Amino acid sequence: MRKLILSLLLLSATAVAAQQYDLVLEGGRVMDPEPGLDAVRNIGTRNGKIVRIAAESLSGRRVVHAAGLVVAPGFIDLHQHGQEAASQRVKAFDGVTTALEMEIGAPDVAQFLELKEGHSLIHYGTTASHAAARALVFGAPLPPYVIDPRAGIPEILPKSGPATNQPATPEQIAHIQQRLRDEIDAGALGVGMGIQYTPGATRLEVIDMFRVAAERRLPVYTHMRSFGRIEPGSDIESVEEVIGAAAITGAPLHIVHINSTCLLDSIECLALVAGARARGLDITTEAYPYIAGMTAINSALFNPGWREKLGIDYGNLVLPETGEHLTKERFEELHNSSVQQSVLVFANTQEVVDAVIPNPLVMIASDGAPGHPRNAGTYARVLAQYVGEKKSLTLMEALRKMTLMPAQMLERSTPAARRKGRLQEGADADIVVFDPQIISDRATFEKPMEPSVGVRYLLVAGALVIDEGKIVPDVFTGRALVGPGRDAGGH
Ligand SMILES: [Zn+2]
Repeated sequence: MRKLILSLLLLSATAVAAQQYDLVLEGGRVMDPEPGLDAVRNIGTRNGKIVRIAAESLSGRRVVHAAGLVVAPGFIDLHQHGQEAASQRVKAFDGVTTALEMEIGAPDVAQFLELKEGHSLIHYGTTASHAAARALVFGAPLPPYVIDPRAGIPEILPKSGPATNQPATPEQIAHIQQRLRDEIDAGALGVGMGIQYTPGATRLEVIDMFRVAAERRLPVYTHMRSFGRIEPGSDIESVEEVIGAAAITGAPLHIVHINSTCLLDSIECLALVAGARARGLDITTEAYPYIAGMTAINSALFNPGWREKLGIDYGNLVLPETGEHLTKERFEELHNSSVQQSVLVFANTQEVVDAVIPNPLVMIASDGAPGHPRNAGTYARVLAQYVGEKKSLTLMEALRKMTLMPAQMLERSTPAARRKGRLQEGADADIVVFDPQIISDRATFEKPMEPSVGVRYLLVAGALVIDEGKIVPDVFTGRALVGPGRDAGGH
């Protein structure tokens, strides 16, 4: 009798086990860069988590047949400005499950988190913005952050003026630091610094901002001070400045888009990063696979001297909406306007980009916003161009740059990142399933919002947001990643 009860119990336990997964990804080529797993496996998810990865078959309420498809951790984009629905949609088709505003940071962290909550297709988060804190302290605060497809890039960059170009007094620096501390308490993942957008910030002001990050054990993400080879003020000096600030303060440092700041000196800049890392400094970097940049034309990046530094002329600036190449007169009009207009900046070469992307130090991050194809195409483009065509990366190496490396960077900000960027039992069920034969970008400078092709399924916190190649309407399982300030009761 006892034996019978036991076998009945076992039977029912087996029956429960057979039905226990919310979703099963069956028979895909499962790739996880951390252990180097590359094998046909079945994955079972429950309550937003990966609970089982096995060779034997699993059953679930929904079974997705993934034979012939690659199953990888969802891509993590550390550098995404466009946070509105249209950008999120193209990010999803590009395989991205987390897209963070880290370069500059949203001007008001609490407001950003409130705007995004319950409305986000993919996971989100932000740094504390030095540029916004500075503008506030100078009495020229940024306009309210708006997530609106018609507005293009949210206004995170101050217009060039006294608040960007003048040095701050010691009192003002203390106030900027306090604002950053408050923003960290509101949930910021670090300090964002667009030094080139606040050229009035002295070397000491930069170090003082790194000090705030260091005292909270958080990283600084930075767009560096300058580009080009003219000394003083070269790209090499710019790398030295932030490596120096990291060495002096102990704050981890992430240099954003090394391709677009260092341009023709990118390989030398990567050698500086490698040298600093060899001396034990915690310094990382990223790049996107395009020859043009894009930014706000009324920002301080276009203060006098930009043509000489970049070695380009007015005609290398192009308006994304119309394809208009600028003239001196048109440039002056737009640079002096208080209306923020994005402009494409053609200043790099394909040879440099092709040398930067495969470098083992380089993570992939898009710097995405409407108007530039990097918003929609960055990840699929790396897979199609560098794994597929040029074969300068293996698929596993490319995935590492898109998943594990950014997740490990984020671990400096939040322990929640340990569950991201991996396909492991206990990890978050943020998963991309794509056809390796088909995956490629479709976005161009003429049609920058064309979604990539090849992503068949995308899971965000266990929910399918792309199912059989189509967006599932009204699924908003994107959640905030927040820093330790908020966890500590700062908010
Ligand atoms: Zn930038």
